[in-house]
Amino acid sequence: MAAGRPWRVALREGCQRLAGVPVEYDLRPYHTQLERVDAVGAHALSDAQLTSRFEAARRAVAGGRPVDQVLPEAYALTREACARALGMRPFDVQMMAAIALHRGRLAQLATGEGKTLVAVMPAALNAMSGRGVHVLTANDYLARRDAAWMGAAYAFLGLTVASVTEHLGRADRQAAYAADITYVTAKEAGFDFLRDHAVVDPAHVVQRPFHFAIVDEADFILIDEARVPLVIAGETAAPPIPHQRIAEAVRTLTPGADFRLDQHERNVTLTDAGFRRAQTVLGCGPLHDPRQHLTLSAIHVALHAEVLLKRDRDYIVRGGRIELVDEFTGRVAENRRWPHGIQPAVEAKEGVEVRPEGAVLGSIPIQHFVRLWPRLAGMTATALPAAEEFREFYGLTTVVFPPHRPCSRVDEPDVVFTHRDAKLHALAGEIARVQATARPVLVGTASVAESEALFRALRDRRIKCRVLNARHDAREAVIIARAGMPGAVTISTNMAGRGTDIVLGGGDPALRERVASLGGLYVIGTNRHESRRVDDQLRGRAGRQGDPGSSRFFISLEDDLISRYGVVGLIPRAHRPARQDGPVEDPVVSREIARAQRIIEGQNFEIRRTLWRYSAMVEEQRAQVCARREELLHDESEPTACAEAAPEHHAALSRTAGDREVARAENRLTMLVLDRRWTDHLRLIEDIREGIHLQRYGGRDPLTEFQRQIIDAYAAMMEELRAEVVDRFRALRAEGGRIDLQRLGVRRPAATWTYLINDNPFASFWVSLIAPGSAGTSMATAVLAVLYWPVAAVVAAWVFVRRALARQKRQE
Ligand code: ADP
Ligand code: MG
Repeated sequence: MAAGRPWRVALREGCQRLAGVPVEYDLRPYHTQLERVDAVGAHALSDAQLTSRFEAARRAVAGGRPVDQVLPEAYALTREACARALGMRPFDVQMMAAIALHRGRLAQLATGEGKTLVAVMPAALNAMSGRGVHVLTANDYLARRDAAWMGAAYAFLGLTVASVTEHLGRADRQAAYAADITYVTAKEAGFDFLRDHAVVDPAHVVQRPFHFAIVDEADFILIDEARVPLVIAGETAAPPIPHQRIAEAVRTLTPGADFRLDQHERNVTLTDAGFRRAQTVLGCGPLHDPRQHLTLSAIHVALHAEVLLKRDRDYIVRGGRIELVDEFTGRVAENRRWPHGIQPAVEAKEGVEVRPEGAVLGSIPIQHFVRLWPRLAGMTATALPAAEEFREFYGLTTVVFPPHRPCSRVDEPDVVFTHRDAKLHALAGEIARVQATARPVLVGTASVAESEALFRALRDRRIKCRVLNARHDAREAVIIARAGMPGAVTISTNMAGRGTDIVLGGGDPALRERVASLGGLYVIGTNRHESRRVDDQLRGRAGRQGDPGSSRFFISLEDDLISRYGVVGLIPRAHRPARQDGPVEDPVVSREIARAQRIIEGQNFEIRRTLWRYSAMVEEQRAQVCARREELLHDESEPTACAEAAPEHHAALSRTAGDREVARAENRLTMLVLDRRWTDHLRLIEDIREGIHLQRYGGRDPLTEFQRQIIDAYAAMMEELRAEVVDRFRALRAEGGRIDLQRLGVRRPAATWTYLINDNPFASFWVSLIAPGSAGTSMATAVLAVLYWPVAAVVAAWVFVRRALARQKRQE
């Protein structure tokens, strides 16, 4: 953060300590450990000695010596390996962060401090046992880049390294996961996990059991992406819904008369007139008829898709497909779909081919997937604002490391405008002014549409700039890397090119001097994001490794964030500015915006917590099913059910095919039936979840009710599973000493595919499930209140009033 306000920083740290925020500030234990590393004296060793000593240490670990004891030796040798093989000798603070990672901490290190290098030490140390280490990166490009970049250091030590990326085949994947260190995105690793748990041939499994993972850009993966469920789906014959016709019918409805929008434009409902009209246009039977419930819900979804989802904001249409825009990165989210029939509704709305949804064969939210590693560590530049969440969900304690060189970036106060056009005008003016001095400017926008509006405004002023919208990580990295050249103007959605270093002057010392004398990189944000972390990430693009730089946000009261949450309504009436062309000077306005952002963060945290509670039980069931399936797949279970329930048939089969073959057939049969039942169970859970909020009207707690229902459903599934297996077993025949399962018709879907499920965009859903007055909210609010000025009482009162207002609104 900006230097020059040390007392505030000190005060905040003090408050955080008092509030029990899970952050470690005391770095002394790391210093002590570092002294032990230094004492090894590895710099005096020859290359060959380095390699052989590492090899010896590795043998010791394989022989049972605890890795903790080997740490000083291994870290010292690895540091030398980095210095000699990569030409980068890790700085002391990097070594300390590396120690923190081994201890399973979340290391906060500013952007550009060299986290890629930091990961090498714990990765090498933990790979010594031969159990494999995963480094989880933010995208495929970074997985490939980092594995290649750090490769020489690992090779020096005799360790193998590989990366897994989207288009890799099965054999290559197996080889990559067999390496000592594997760089891969959480998403790709998750898809492989799901596929491994859907294979019918044990030889097709690609992953080894998990051991230790280091998560790079940890807040992005563990928080922003955490809610995203990964899905493996397969073909089914679903009843056809006439999406195109429904989309056309919905388009004939008139706002106000046929449907109503709620105040924040987050929900839309059909009126009675709307019902009748849809019915007439579609020429179907009465929509209230239970037999029409599929049509009715398709109409609802189509109406939502028509009215609430905006092209070029929520999605783009490219190559005859709908591609979702990620709300966090503002970029196209590849391979992502909306749940619950929203996807086909949008496809129909845009007149592109409606693709089948398939049946979900397996799914796991990233939040839970990451916890499958017995040991986890993370690193990011922006951990602190989410420290509480890291601790609660992942048991990770945040450790804040100072930059190698002090940060000298200046973070200017926000400039606020009353409307978008005024903001755009001022932005273009500011960029023109700065560009005339040749100082490089990086502009972070929230959406593709906004990038384009700005691009046009700049073009009108004949300012050359580069716009980064399309999703192409490698190309993006090249452009972002050049954003520090004199006179460069780069516009990108807010997290494009994450993980790429912006070097002033692009690496040329003379140009660097020139850019530095102009003030370094100037970062402009055109929007406040829902989370301060994302804003901080953008700011962090400037002022890396002690470089000069500055950042500033231009905001308008018409921005999505502000209008969606009704922030203007929070500004006291006397301070509410009238429409004006110049910036709003009233500090109360900026303060309210900042405060609203914290409340929104708290709410999002609460949504994730709710999701967590709802998925915890499902996860437990999934873990049980996975474990059972693993036994069945590897034929490691000694089945008894059929011998007990159908003893005569069992005995007859055994006589012709042998006990072993009968056991194999029963295991295989059980696995196939389990797979199908689990798919049905997942669908049932979705149905239960969708309707569960209604329990509140019956005075019951939705969460308790939800858990009760899915526990019952699980028990019933297991019971039926057993019965079905026995039934099908009775139909088995042995021929030529083998039992043929094919004939039974239980098999996996021929085609499977994987994708991510985007949040339901009409997401008042999870909000509706947040327990009213939950302890979590008040805790988060209290901590926030202690951390950031306004005294707890004020915030609490405010939250209270807001809730009361919301309740009143709901009743109206
Ligand atoms: P981060 O991930 O923390 O943002 P990177 O790993 O991308 O940072 O590294 C940023 C830059 O710092 C890279 O260009 C890298 O070469 C350089 N760097 C990192 N550590 C060192 C070091 N110990 N010595 C010299 N250069 C380093
Ligand atoms: Mg990085």
